Amino acid sequence: MKKGEQNISGGLLFNNEYSAEPFILERVNKSSKLGKHSYQIIDFLPSIQLLEEHKKKLAFQSYLLYFYLGFMPTTCKLINIKQEVIEFNPVNEFEGVRKIINEIKKLEYTKTIPSAYINQHCKICRWKDKCLNECIKKKDLSLLFGISNVTRRILIESKINNINDMANLDNNQIKLMKDKGVRNVPFLIKQAYSYITKTPERIMYPNFPTRYPALYFDIEGQIDLNFQYLFGVYNEETIEYLPFWADEITNEKDAFFAFLKYLSKIKKYTLFHYGSYEKTAIRDLCFKYNISKKIEQSVLNSMVDIYSALKKCAAIPVPSYSLKDIAQFLGYMWHDKEALGANSIIWHNQWMKTNNLQCKERLKTYNKNDCEATAFVKNWLEESV
Ligand code: SF4
Repeated sequence: MKKGEQNISGGLLFNNEYSAEPFILERVNKSSKLGKHSYQIIDFLPSIQLLEEHKKKLAFQSYLLYFYLGFMPTTCKLINIKQEVIEFNPVNEFEGVRKIINEIKKLEYTKTIPSAYINQHCKICRWKDKCLNECIKKKDLSLLFGISNVTRRILIESKINNINDMANLDNNQIKLMKDKGVRNVPFLIKQAYSYITKTPERIMYPNFPTRYPALYFDIEGQIDLNFQYLFGVYNEETIEYLPFWADEITNEKDAFFAFLKYLSKIKKYTLFHYGSYEKTAIRDLCFKYNISKKIEQSVLNSMVDIYSALKKCAAIPVPSYSLKDIAQFLGYMWHDKEALGANSIIWHNQWMKTNNLQCKERLKTYNKNDCEATAFVKNWLEESV
């Protein structure tokens, strides 16, 4: 921090009593005890919605920064899974943090360590590998994709304690679970079975359109700036990757139009993507740039979401169906070991501040790999398991 590094990840903040590991410390040009600069916290939010607990976490980390800066920063940032940056003042949240600290001080600790279960916070938690291994070892029900903690509790109360029990439910138990409101029981059984065999379980075959060529598409954007800066397309027929890139927000229109022009030249195609982000972005951009309904509809009609198809078609023994987790399980490897949605935002911020070409290339490679990974999952879905 004294050296004034732009971004610091994996740092440890501590005072006499407490410590915290902020995801990223971002340099700010405001004088502090460190010199002519100071820092603020950036964290990754594993959901869309900002909850009180997330605010409190950042307020606590910002409070620890007080001991390094001589003041508590008045801004911090959260990046959600849609890559939106949410900014707020941690000072306003600190009263709540103080209350929690006082409550914790009153607690009497026992030596019993609560047992781990996979939840939405694990992705960004420092214990994630340890807890995942623990859950795999005890075949915890939380490993099943999409299972809520409420469902897990209903199952345990019904003596379905682990993945083995889930895989071997008899018809009476299945009926009982359905009566108790457990949704998607057949999928959970299939997935439990896939954990036991360590092999994906086919549920059904996808019914993808047969308009060729198959194009695989992924958008990178900074939603807080309302800026989509990269429209990447991998064309399976020509085996080429095309990045329609916008250096600045003022170039977004050119990049988007170049992407539309590329599609219009091909005329017939299927545009595969992973998740809902791309479809929403296309709609927003068509509205923003006054694109005719005919063109917008023709692009939207050609789009096929591989994530939606995957959830219906296969049970795979991984707790998350993110593109990264699924494609890696199936055997696809990202070129960059640090390829993560949160890192892409950091690289893009660096690009915007410095125009460093390495950042641009890194983002293109990341996007290319996302397109290729989507193709990998789609082709896997069409093969027999
Ligand atoms: S990784 Fe472990 S400690 Fe962290 S949130 Fe998940 S279960 Fe809790």
